[in-house]
Amino acid sequence: MTEVMDKVQTHQQYINGEWVSSASGRTLAVENPANGQVIAHVAASGPEDVDRAAQAAAKAFETWQHTTPQDRSLLMLKLADAIEARAEEIGRLESRNAGKPVGVAIDEVPVVVDNLRFFAGAGRVLEGKAANEYTAGRTSMVRREPVGVVASIAPWNYPIMMAGWKIGPALMAGNTVILKPSARTPLTALVLAEIAAETLPPGVLNVITGTGAEIGDALVGHPQVGMVSVTGDTDTGKRIARIAADRVKRLHLELGGKAPVIVFDDADLEAVIDNLKTFSYWNSGQDCTAPCRVITGPKVHDSFVADLAAAVASIKWGDPAEGDDIEMGSLIAAAQADKVEGMVERARAGAEIVTGGHRPDRPGAYYEPTVIAGPDQKSEVVQDEVFGPVVTVQRFSDEEQAIAWANDVRFGLAASVWTADIGRAMRVAKAIQFGTVWINDHFTLVSEMPHGGFKESGYGKDQSMYAIEDYTVVKHVMLKV
Ligand code: NAD
Repeated sequence: MTEVMDKVQTHQQYINGEWVSSASGRTLAVENPANGQVIAHVAASGPEDVDRAAQAAAKAFETWQHTTPQDRSLLMLKLADAIEARAEEIGRLESRNAGKPVGVAIDEVPVVVDNLRFFAGAGRVLEGKAANEYTAGRTSMVRREPVGVVASIAPWNYPIMMAGWKIGPALMAGNTVILKPSARTPLTALVLAEIAAETLPPGVLNVITGTGAEIGDALVGHPQVGMVSVTGDTDTGKRIARIAADRVKRLHLELGGKAPVIVFDDADLEAVIDNLKTFSYWNSGQDCTAPCRVITGPKVHDSFVADLAAAVASIKWGDPAEGDDIEMGSLIAAAQADKVEGMVERARAGAEIVTGGHRPDRPGAYYEPTVIAGPDQKSEVVQDEVFGPVVTVQRFSDEEQAIAWANDVRFGLAASVWTADIGRAMRVAKAIQFGTVWINDHFTLVSEMPHGGFKESGYGKDQSMYAIEDYTVVKHVMLKV
């Protein structure tokens, strides 16, 4: 699978149960963003590689779709066990490839494992609605069938976790998969391929490594691909939707977010600040559900800003290689640090940078944990995804304004409401347009419950029975007796 080149390994891609170089022979360099060093090379897939993977997945589908749920479940459980057995190795590799603290990266692996185990069970209870005679002399039944070949396109922020979220429901529903990790973070997906090589029949899971720019259109537009599942930026989702529209392909879009955190005057402020200190800066803020847009009650606003800034200033950040006490690592790439820096600089004119606001002068893609107070609702930093360690705080005047501001963005993935008044919590949870609403919490996910957006955050759900249903088509069979 690998060969040594310039002291770093070169990884092939995994197609039809074989490790193969790209048809062009070209490779891509993979960096550790915490120090900018090249840590590996991977195959640079081109359209020929996409075609090879699509043909392999289509061939494997002929058999895989007829395996029983029990057969697939046993294989999925083996896959989960093998990932669990390599959790530390996978976490360490993810840390080096994504700039995450090592402990955080290792802790992400059990989430993937649980998700795959959930779908190993869920696939066995996937059902159509009850059979019945809806007209005399005819019996109707509903079958849920796999779509066929699914192109699973994953982002760089949680590489192994997003890969797991995609392959579990797709494979358990009886589809075969072409997984395309982000070109920035392909390494743990290749470990997943190694595990699949010992577990799944050839062609059922294929992993190709390439850039979206070079192979995106070929993959999405390939006639053998029946469905495209993408987690990524909203603009990427829109482009994929345009290409997919030509063949009316099924889509599953998990896109950007801009999560509001509505803090009423009666909220437990210490609990809010504890949560934000951890989760707004988790993965350096590169999280689609990150609690990044705080809207506080008029009475608590000033003390909240001061206490949040003090908590955030205490976050220990740096290169994960410096020690286990690093709480926040680097961003994914210098380009992402450029983006964060640009957005904070443009926000300065109309708001106060209460803590952070600088790009450290050191190798690697870093940005200080930052809190910005008082930006205008229509400003860029409130409306657009920063995808970095930046939280804004705004002061609302009443509940109506809090709801209006929460909803006044193009995204609708996740939100939280913090209050001691349960009636208000339920009223606000209903009024805001987000796929997940937490009450007195923010960030907690479970495999049994759906995760997915409203509005420009996309459509289709990850996790839960809703996800596996998304990877099926409903067929009505009517029998005349
Ligand atoms: P991205 O859009 O740059 O890339 C995502 C994937 O799409 C990558 O594999 C990339 O190679 C591929 N891609 C890019 N252009 C393509 C094209 N034209 N055709 C096909 N594939 C293409 O996103 P990213 O920067 O890797 O991830 C961050 C984004 O993901 C953020 O916007 C974040 O909010 C979003 N995200 C959403 C969720 C969710 O559940 N909704 C979860 C995690 C991340």
